[in-house]
Amino acid sequence: MITLSNVSKIFKSGLKAKDSIVAVDDISLTIDEGEIFGVIGYSGAGKSTLIRMLNGLETPSSGSVVVAGKEVSKIKGSSLRKARHEISMIFQHFNLLWSRTVRENIAFPLEITGLPKEERRQRVNELIKLVGLEGREDAYPSQLSGGQKQRVGIARALANNPKVLLCDEATSALDPQTTDSILELLVDINKRLGLTIVLITHEMHVIRKICNRVAVMEAGKVVEIGPVLNVFKNPEQPITKRFVQQVTEPEETKETVEHLLDRFPDGEVIQLTFVGESAENPLITQLIRNFKLDVNIVQGKISQTRDGSYGTLFIHIDGPAEEIDHALEFIKQQQVGVEVIS
Ligand code: ADP
Repeated sequence: MITLSNVSKIFKSGLKAKDSIVAVDDISLTIDEGEIFGVIGYSGAGKSTLIRMLNGLETPSSGSVVVAGKEVSKIKGSSLRKARHEISMIFQHFNLLWSRTVRENIAFPLEITGLPKEERRQRVNELIKLVGLEGREDAYPSQLSGGQKQRVGIARALANNPKVLLCDEATSALDPQTTDSILELLVDINKRLGLTIVLITHEMHVIRKICNRVAVMEAGKVVEIGPVLNVFKNPEQPITKRFVQQVTEPEETKETVEHLLDRFPDGEVIQLTFVGESAENPLITQLIRNFKLDVNIVQGKISQTRDGSYGTLFIHIDGPAEEIDHALEFIKQQQVGVEVIS
């Protein structure tokens, strides 16, 4: 659905080369139809510039951008405006028309494409239902909560049946609970309409919650890219590790370890780190079944991602030393990360 080939964007702030800023530096990647693709990076990494090149709001200095079969980086004027119906966008601060009601905001792109009045009315009703804004049709943006405003933004972006939805920090202005509900709505829309979604964010929990793949950006480059679960399991770059730590809370784990060692002076405390289909349950069942040991899950933190789960479980096993050794051998053969901590 999207192909970037050697895309760079240089902003010139003066006449000399040293006054130039390389916002995006030679990025090539493809995004499949129906994928939810995340781009994460700190402020200034080049995320906005990258996403703005996908719908022609910025033109690359070199390279090509092809979205839904159109070379967005080459077209201009009315062809570009037409292409933008297929590549729509939602924003951190919603970008709503403040003097228009919910219904009128959502109808706006349909007015531009010239949809007849009755069809427009029907389409707006459908969209209002899709994003869960029934009963708020005649409210003005100032009368809505942040989450409701973003629902209007989403409905408006979907009005002309786009193939791609770009989300520019779409949940950064929202509280955590509202963020979750908007992310759930995006997943729902992705499933129901088969829409390709590209989102940029500086928050790893957003990536974890809904993306299939993620690209990590630093200084204009994509420094790491892959399925979200793989990146969580095995982050390669230091910056990726920092993002992963944002959501895995290592400090908390350290405290947990100390606390558990105090609580269980005998036997072994084992930390299992797993990624993928909930691998932990069969393993623990097998431990209980196959070994003459006391086996207890003493602490756990499991997070669901779009494609499975990942997390850490601490288990305590106790019994005869030889049996413990056999159990440890058995655990090490499994598809989970294992650390014996006492
Ligand atoms: P991010 O979205 O990751 O915060 P941006 O794409 O906004 O990053 O910015 C990347 C770099 O490009 C920054 O150094 C920023 O100052 C610069 N930049 C972005 N837009 C412009 C512009 N219109 N003119 C000059 N410099 C810009």
